Parts: sequence; structure tokens; C-alpha cells
Amino acid sequence: MSNEVKMRVKTSLLIIFTVIRVSEECNCPTVISRSAWGARSPKAVTKIRYTPRFAFIHHSDGSSCTSVYRCKRVVKGIQNYHINSKGWSDIGYNFLIGGDGNVYEGRGWGVVGAHVRGYNSRSIGICFLGNFMSTSPTSRAIDAAKALLECAVEKGKLKENYRLYGHRDAGSTSCPGDTLYKLIKQWPHY
Ligand SMILES: [Zn+2]
Repeated sequence: MSNEVKMRVKTSLLIIFTVIRVSEECNCPTVISRSAWGARSPKAVTKIRYTPRFAFIHHSDGSSCTSVYRCKRVVKGIQNYHINSKGWSDIGYNFLIGGDGNVYEGRGWGVVGAHVRGYNSRSIGICFLGNFMSTSPTSRAIDAAKALLECAVEKGKLKENYRLYGHRDAGSTSCPGDTLYKLIKQWPHY
């Protein structure tokens, strides 16, 4: 091969790999960042040391929301409650899912949460906004949570063979609500 041909091959391969990488990241849902919902700064941050093997699903057992405006307020309320009343360093969950179909950044990737006793340093905590004892989250919210889980594996933030659980699987609580619990039992990795 001439040098020119070699260069062309190299350039083509570079483009192909770039396209593959970009398309992989496209599976990640849009995440409403902490600054976008007006989060308070955490009082402390503990990094997760190893890739988590578990993902836990929660419900907030509080207000639901179907608009970005309303969901931001609900998320802020949960952060205030966790910091002011529970005395935690930050909102407990890694991510929160609104009925509007958006993912809201909680503690985010790679940070130890406060959501399941005994599992915080080896799991990701995802919380649906609302009470799901007798109603389901919106289909948009469900799609967002599933996309977030796939995205977590793609980003290397969750082990490929991770186990999915509901909060009640690891403690005496009704969380994530009877209806949502039945649903997640049908999801991959449960
Ligand atoms: Zn819970």
C-alpha cells in the first residue's frame, strides 16, 4: 500500500470508530443536571470505589409530576428534606425519574448514595417521583429509567451482569410500591 492509501485507511477507520462511539452514547437519556434544577451543593461526596453490581428502584412516596417545572420543584423538595430533616449530605438517590419522562441528576454517577442500608457503596439508586402502590409510573418515566440502566452499563458505571432490585428486596419497606414493584420484576436483570 502506498502511504497515501494507508493514510486514507487510517482516516476511514478513525471516522468509523468515532461514529460507533457517538452512537453508543446516543442510548443515554437526557439528564437534567443538578445546576439545571437548582440543587444545593452536597456537604460531602464519597466516590464509589468499584463498579456497582446492583441497581435499586425506589419511589419517593410523595408528589408526582408531569412537567419539567413541577418535577424540578419536587426534586428540590426531596433534597431539602434529605439534608434538613434526615441530616444527610445530599439528596439520597443517584438519579430521579419524573412523570415528565426526564431523568434528574441526584448524586449522579460514581457517588455513594443514601438509599438502601448496606448497599449504598455498591449500587445505583434510582427513584421514581410519586407513590406507586396502586398506580404505575407514566410510560415515559418507565422508558427513561430503562434507558438510564442501559446507559449505565454502556458507560461502565454498572456491571454488565448487574442485578436489579426493588428497595423492599433489601429492607422492610413498601418501596417502590406494589404496582411499580410488580413491573420491575418483568424487567431485564431482575
Ligand atoms: Zn426506597
